[in-house]
Amino acid sequence: PDPMRVLYKDYRTATPQNFSNYESMKQDFKIEIPEYFNFAKDVLDQWTNMEKAGKRLSNPAFWWIDGNGEELRWSFEELGLLSRKFANILTEACSLQRGDRVMVILPKIPEWWLANVACLRTGTVLIPGTTQLTQKDILYRLQSSKAKCIITDDTLAPAVDAVAAKCENLHSKLIVSQHSREGWGNLKEMMKYASDSHTCVDTKHDEMMAIYFTSGTTGPPKMIGHTHSSFGLGLSVNGRFWLDLIASDVMWNTSDTGWAKSAWSSVFSPWTQGACVFAHYLPRFESTSILQTLSKFPITVFCSAPTAYRMLVQNDMSSYKFNSLKHCVSAGEPINPEVMEQWRKKTGLDIYEGYGQTETVLICGNFKGMKIKPGSMGKPSPAFDVKILDENGATLPPGQEGDIALQVLPERPFGLFTHYVDNPSKTASTLRGSFYITGDRGYMDEDGYFWFVARSDDIILSSGYRIGPFEVESALIEHPSIAESAVVSSPDPIRGEVVKAFIVLNPDYKSHDQEQLKKEIQEHVKKTTAPYKYPRKVEFIEELPKTVSGKVKRNELRKKEWVTT
Ligand code: ATP
Ligand code: MG
Repeated sequence: PDPMRVLYKDYRTATPQNFSNYESMKQDFKIEIPEYFNFAKDVLDQWTNMEKAGKRLSNPAFWWIDGNGEELRWSFEELGLLSRKFANILTEACSLQRGDRVMVILPKIPEWWLANVACLRTGTVLIPGTTQLTQKDILYRLQSSKAKCIITDDTLAPAVDAVAAKCENLHSKLIVSQHSREGWGNLKEMMKYASDSHTCVDTKHDEMMAIYFTSGTTGPPKMIGHTHSSFGLGLSVNGRFWLDLIASDVMWNTSDTGWAKSAWSSVFSPWTQGACVFAHYLPRFESTSILQTLSKFPITVFCSAPTAYRMLVQNDMSSYKFNSLKHCVSAGEPINPEVMEQWRKKTGLDIYEGYGQTETVLICGNFKGMKIKPGSMGKPSPAFDVKILDENGATLPPGQEGDIALQVLPERPFGLFTHYVDNPSKTASTLRGSFYITGDRGYMDEDGYFWFVARSDDIILSSGYRIGPFEVESALIEHPSIAESAVVSSPDPIRGEVVKAFIVLNPDYKSHDQEQLKKEIQEHVKKTTAPYKYPRKVEFIEELPKTVSGKVKRNELRKKEWVTT
C-alpha cells in the first residue's frame, strides 16, 4: 500500500516490477488529476502517517553524507517537521506569499531538500540554480525570474550582494552559514527558533510550482514553468516505471541541484515511491569517490549522466563490490552502447536509458523486464503519446527519421510544462498541429523502440546524406584510443558540409603518431558504420566544451568551424 495508489490502477500486484508486458502496462495506466494537489501534503505527509502506523520499514526518507565522515538521516516525520519550520521562516521572516518566487542556489546540502519541501508547503515557487553560476548569471536569473527571495551559502552571497541593488523584486535573503552576514537571515539560527506548526497550503493542481532553467546546451537557458501536477504528480511516472522504486530502495542521483534532473531523481520520483533519497556532498565529480560511495552504502538504484558513466568505466573497478546495487539508469544525453557494455562487464548491471527534457517528465525509457536494445531510448513512458512527425505534422512510419513529438490535443498530457516563462512566442513555436515538438530528431523501429538521432540543429548534411553525430561518436568510442568525442558539421567546398570529429584521446595514446592514429580511427569508423559517415576531418583536443551539467556543447564547436572559414 502506498499514498499514490489511489491515483493509479494497481498494475503492480500482478507482476511486481516487471514490465515485460509493455502493452498492458501502458494500457492500464490511468492517472486522475485531482483538483487540488500538493506533494508535501498529499505524498510526504502520507508517508509520515505510514511510518507512524508502522506500515513503512525503517528506511530513512533522506540520507546524506559529506564524504568526510559527516552523515545525517531523516525519517519522513523529521523531514516534515524541519520543512514546516522552514516554511514558517519563508512566510514570516521573509514575508513571502503564495505564488512568490524563491531562488535557491545551494550545493548538495540538506537545506536544499528542505527548501524544496518548504516551498511546496507555502505555495511559493522554487527556482533552483547551480552553484557554478557567476555573478552575471545570478543577475540575469534574478531579474528574469523576478525572484523575491534568494537562499544561498557563503560562497555565492557576495555575488548576490554585488547585484542585489539591480534586482527590484528581491527583498529577502537567507544564508546557510555558520556565520552571520549583514542584510541576510541566517537559516541555521532561524531554524532553532521557528515554530514547527504549519498548515500546508491547498494548491490547485495547475498552480505554478517551480521554474527550472534548461541546461543551456544550445543557447541561453530557458525558464520552464511546472505546476503541482506536471512535476509534483507527473514525476511519479519516472519513479514507478523507469526507476523501478519501492519504499525499501535507496536512490542516489549524482546530478547537480540546479537542474530539473534533480527534481526528477533526487526529489519527486523517489519520494513518490516512499524510497530513500541518498545524497553525497561532492563539490566536484570524482570517479573514485563515486565508486567508493556506491560500494560502501546500501544504494539500490543509481542515476547518472552519460558523461559520468564514461568517466567511471575508465577506472579499474575490480576492487569494488556493488552488493546492494540492482538498477542503474542514465539520462540527459544518449549513452554509447560501448559504455553500457563496459558497465555491464564491471558491475554485472545494465544501464536503463531514459529520455526527457526539463520541459517534460520521462518521454521514453527502458523499463525493467523489457528487452534492452543498446543505443535505443526504449519505448514511450505511459505519460505520453510519442510520435515521429514530418515537417507538416504527419506521423511517419517505422524506420523513418523525423521530429520527436508529443501529442497535446485533445488533451494536454499532465507531465508536460505549461509554458516558457515570459516567452509566449517561444512556447507557441513548439507547437505543430496537435503536437509539441521536442526539438530532437529520431525514429521508431518496427518493435516500437525509439532511437535518438540528434538535436535538430546537430544534424549534419553531407552530400545529401543526413548524419546524426551520436552514431558516429558511438563508433568512435569503440576505438581503444578514444576517451570521448564530439562530432559536428564543418564546411566543405564540394560537399557543403562534412563530418568533423573532435577527439579526446586516452592518456596512453597521446604520444602516438597523430597522423597515423587519425587514419586508423577513420578506417575504424568506416568499418563500424556506413562508410559515408566517417569523419573526413579529425582534430585532437584536450577537453570537450560542456555545460555545467556535463553535456557536450556541439554548437560551440560547430560555430567555430563555420566562423573561421
Ligand atoms: P537547452 O534547451 O537550454 O539548449 P538542454 O536541451 O540540454 O538545453 P535539458 O532540458 O536539460 O536542456 O535537456 C533535454 C535534452 O537533452 C533533450 O531535448 C535531448 O536533446 C537531450 N537528452 C536527454 N536525454 C537523452 C537521451 N536519453 N538520449 C538523447 N538525448 C537526450
Ligand atoms: Mg532543450
